Amino acid sequence: MKKEDIFAIQQELATPKKIAIIPHRSPDGDAMGSTLALYHFLLKLNHQPVVIAPNDFPNFLAWLPGSETVLIYENDKGNCTKIIQEAEMVFTLDFNALHRTGEMEQVLNKVTVPMVMIDHHQKPDNYATYTYSDTIFGSTCEMIYNFIAFLGHKNLIDKTIASCIYTGITTDSGSFRFPSTTGTTHRIVADLIDLGIDNSEIHNQLFDNNSYNRLQLLGRALQNMKVFPEFKTSYITLSQKELDEFHYEKGDTEGVVNYGLTIKGIHFAAIFIEHRDENIIKISFRSQGNFDVNQFARDHFNGGGHINAAGGKSYESMRETIKKFELLISKITI
Ligand code: 5GP
Ligand code: MN
Repeated sequence: MKKEDIFAIQQELATPKKIAIIPHRSPDGDAMGSTLALYHFLLKLNHQPVVIAPNDFPNFLAWLPGSETVLIYENDKGNCTKIIQEAEMVFTLDFNALHRTGEMEQVLNKVTVPMVMIDHHQKPDNYATYTYSDTIFGSTCEMIYNFIAFLGHKNLIDKTIASCIYTGITTDSGSFRFPSTTGTTHRIVADLIDLGIDNSEIHNQLFDNNSYNRLQLLGRALQNMKVFPEFKTSYITLSQKELDEFHYEKGDTEGVVNYGLTIKGIHFAAIFIEHRDENIIKISFRSQGNFDVNQFARDHFNGGGHINAAGGKSYESMRETIKKFELLISKITI
């Protein structure tokens, strides 16, 4: 982060302020962990922070300290809009473009007070007054740890803040296995554990929280998997009907896409999930090695993300979407 930006933010934070903290739509472990870590940190500095999520977060994150204070824009647009309008500072975390907040974009576009972006996605937009954006980091939570340290307040990181940071580092690194996991990541995690976080229990909360229905849905997803060894690709589909059949709840399909990559020789995996309420097919892409799914999602499926993990959407039917995908993988080199 630029020295002059750190200095300027220190000045901004020198007096108590009303501060809005915004994660991306469909917030994941890193989005919720980073916003809540910053929330607890700003509370300690005597500010009045509030986390406003565009829509609800999955149940497996409900244990996060402070999650009960998070406002959901979709459920209370009037109040959330007012809070953003009255904020004296706005932090946007774990996304690179305001459209990632859905409808909230309209409200955030009108913000005139200082905005801070902290994010690790490619090609950040230029809306923030202060931008701390770097794809070298595996998670926004790792950047929040750095951010607090840059401000000279590492000593304020307590067990609560550490638990939030640990959550995002764990979920965004696939439990420390993705290539973005560095020695520094592990040194930060060592610090967090020394601060007394219950790392094993957090892992349980995040990953051993399945319902029977979720596992049955996973079973169906795996049965739906198509494998194309010649293109090193596999994909999974889930229709709205199948989601309904297994009483789908938010978060139930989290991580399912990764199973495609666990097949030997498969370097590109996708999952296509029908969302009838929005009339879209939501897509997740994952790759191993050099195949850039961020570029693929941008070029073909209205999305983006990182080199090895990206998302997108299709406005066509599942059938048409799959047809397009199968044609694409037969033409590109993976
Ligand atoms: P997921 O597949 O888990 O939803 O997302 C994987 C990565 O791609 C995440 O970093 C997420 O923020 C990003 N991503 C997911 N969907 C979209 C999208 O529609 N547009 C962009 N630009 N990024 C996305
Ligand atoms: Mn992230």
